[in-house]
Amino acid sequence: MSLDTTKIVQNDLFIDDKELEYIQKSIDQRWLSEGAFAKKFSEEISKITDSNYVTFAPNGTLGLFLALIALDLPKESEIILPSFTFYASATACIFAGLKPVFIDVDLDTCNLVTEKITSAITNNTSAIMAIHIYGQSCNIEHILEIAKEHNLKVIEDAAQGFGVRYKGRHVGSIGDVGVFSFFSDKVITTGEGAAIVTNNKSLFEKILLLRNQGRPSAGTFIHPELGMNFRITDIQAGIGLSQLNKFPQIIEDRLNKFALYEKTLCSIPSIQVLKIASYSNFIPFRFCFRTDKKEILCQRLNREGIATRSYFFPMHLQPKLKKYTSHSCRNSEILYEEGVCLPIHHHLSNNDIEFICEKISLLLKE
Ligand SMILES: *Cc1c(COP(=O)(O)O)cnc(C)c1O
Repeated sequence: MSLDTTKIVQNDLFIDDKELEYIQKSIDQRWLSEGAFAKKFSEEISKITDSNYVTFAPNGTLGLFLALIALDLPKESEIILPSFTFYASATACIFAGLKPVFIDVDLDTCNLVTEKITSAITNNTSAIMAIHIYGQSCNIEHILEIAKEHNLKVIEDAAQGFGVRYKGRHVGSIGDVGVFSFFSDKVITTGEGAAIVTNNKSLFEKILLLRNQGRPSAGTFIHPELGMNFRITDIQAGIGLSQLNKFPQIIEDRLNKFALYEKTLCSIPSIQVLKIASYSNFIPFRFCFRTDKKEILCQRLNREGIATRSYFFPMHLQPKLKKYTSHSCRNSEILYEEGVCLPIHHHLSNNDIEFICEKISLLLKE
């Protein structure tokens, strides 16, 4: 007997016969590594994200790592990033030989507070990692201004940002290089996988060599550069293409579900729903909000079979990252203490959302 009594899960996929059809096609092509689907998938990503150059990586974490080593930043130089992010943003920096410097974020939007960047810059700073979280853009324009002034590179962790735009411009393609993840719980998925985008030709060429054993194409055993293998399979690219066909429907569906949650929950005084900055569009990643009753609320919802998720645990408090801490990041701590994510996936029904909202209303009015 299973002890798992979850009735409403945190994430589920919008995946069906269409993906199966492309998987079959990629098998029929008798070439399972990057091939026809990868080419088509990268062309579509290039169009959607306004990026001239697109390559793939096995996942978002390795995508960030590959982008960082391609930037060839000085060893042990500092990279500034928000403390409020997923662990991989920080570890990619460390494995790329850089020193992460964590700064604080805004409580309402979870976005990096750009004013804090300037005071974190030292003679040893080489880059800023801009992070687009929970379905909106951070203030990438201001980040770029600061970067330009101080001669710093900008890498965009747009792992959660596919489809997200800053004042109409697609995130990921605004800085020097950007990375989208296609992990199972992102807005579109290939299971595992990521795309790296840039408008810088020489950086793109560097990435190509690094990801393909230091050679411009397969079929030769002379490797002019150092490189490894960051390729994906054509099966994944086929799934990704199929997901792209559903993308407009996915966005609409998520926005409708967000609105339904919001209708009930935004009128509860002890709930602060994630705010969307005026410079960004919004593709809900989850229904994200803060409440000072997080712990009891999550306990009770879980008991009702509703899976909840906390916000990120801040980087500056992580067991293996604490030693890099130099700036106070109190808002990141509050976001963890109070942040709750509710599901917003395709198979969640309106009834499910109403059920969740009803339980929350009852609990918080007690
Ligand atoms: C998911 C995620 C990553 C890592 O991507 P994977 O494909 O899971 O390796 C990095 N940064 C952020 C902000 C993410 O949400």
